[in-house]
Amino acid sequence: MFDYLKGSAKIHRSEYTFWRFKHFHIYQVMLPYSGFVLSVIPIYLLFGYFDYQHLQEDAWLATMTRLFFSFLCVALLLLLKRYSPKHLDLAELTLVLCVYWSLTYIGQMAMHGGDFNYQSGGILVMAYVGALSRLPFKASFIALTFMAICYVWMISPLRLEHDFAEEIDRLSIMSAIYIMCLIACLRRESETHTSFEQYSQIRSQQLKLKASQRKLSLQAVTDPLTELKNRLYLTQNAALFVQNAKQSKQGMSLLMIDIDNFKSINDVYGHQVGDNVIYGVAQIIRQHCGRYTGMNIRYGGEEFLSVFHCFSESELQQIAESILTDVAKLYWPDKNLRVTVSIGLATNKNQSLNMHELINQGDKALYLAKQKGKNRIEIYSDKP
Ligand code: GH3
Ligand code: MG
Ligand code: MG
Repeated sequence: MFDYLKGSAKIHRSEYTFWRFKHFHIYQVMLPYSGFVLSVIPIYLLFGYFDYQHLQEDAWLATMTRLFFSFLCVALLLLLKRYSPKHLDLAELTLVLCVYWSLTYIGQMAMHGGDFNYQSGGILVMAYVGALSRLPFKASFIALTFMAICYVWMISPLRLEHDFAEEIDRLSIMSAIYIMCLIACLRRESETHTSFEQYSQIRSQQLKLKASQRKLSLQAVTDPLTELKNRLYLTQNAALFVQNAKQSKQGMSLLMIDIDNFKSINDVYGHQVGDNVIYGVAQIIRQHCGRYTGMNIRYGGEEFLSVFHCFSESELQQIAESILTDVAKLYWPDKNLRVTVSIGLATNKNQSLNMHELINQGDKALYLAKQKGKNRIEIYSDKP
């Protein structure tokens, strides 16, 4: 079962690599160099001059064919480049085959008119496939083999009849060109694979770098002990938070929570226990405030800040009370330790305050709660 799963994962991976290579071949190899295909069109059209010399009154048909394929090539290339680059290779293969076939047809026409010196044009198409084209090896192999078969089938028999020795010479040249072009295409394919591997390595390194950058920037704004956001996060996001609150015509509310007599917990039980207490309180804050849109921040050592987009004082008081109740339930039996928190509450309904002012108000309310005996909630009021 395990092996089978491993096997299927392998299949998926190789399929994935196949499609990635295909994508690479189209977008990094064929598309950037597709303009080069057009360079052969003037050469192809210039040969129209020889059509007149060799075919005379039949030359119009050859000219029309040349013009048709040239136009088709330009139009197809522009359309595919814009709308469907993934079909570039198929289109190029089709065009190469059609152009070769048209040249063979023209060569045949010339032979029927008694002209046996007008059948070499196909060699140029072979050279194009071997040297200029960026077709994958499979497509190049199909094209070159099609050309060789076309020549042997449509041209060679008539030429052999006409001049056996000369045609044998030409056939050997054609075979050599066919083999050389195939080797060139094979080399091109292997070079493309090498570039693909290098490209993949660079790409995967880039992705790893991006992922570790993301991780680092997340770490920079996260408190490692409580996993709440830290003060840097608050500084970075305060302006945006206030702007959103203003845009949506919502006010802002804030809870400032501080663990009571925390220093004595550290002093009596040690920092490790102190850390456990901070973690426990932070989880309760996350539990009660995390479901609302806002920020839960470890503001300082044993001090936390929860900022919300909007709550009425009574709603905010309810949240604060559930935090107070749940913190009171925290108990470390081996140390017989319980903790309490004091909470300062501030709301900004008129949207005129900034984050700094709201935090000041929360701080004042918290100070009042500490003064009034701790383990309680105080609401900020500007009335004395
Ligand atoms: P109050 O009730 O008025 O808030 O008094 P308090 O003792 O809680 O406040 P005080 O500001 O006097 O002490 C806070 C202590 O928290 C001082 C500092 O050593 C400790 N502290 C700060 N950060 C950490 C931390 O990450 N872990 C531990 N264990 N202690 C910390
Ligand atoms: Mg404290
Ligand atoms: Mg404090």
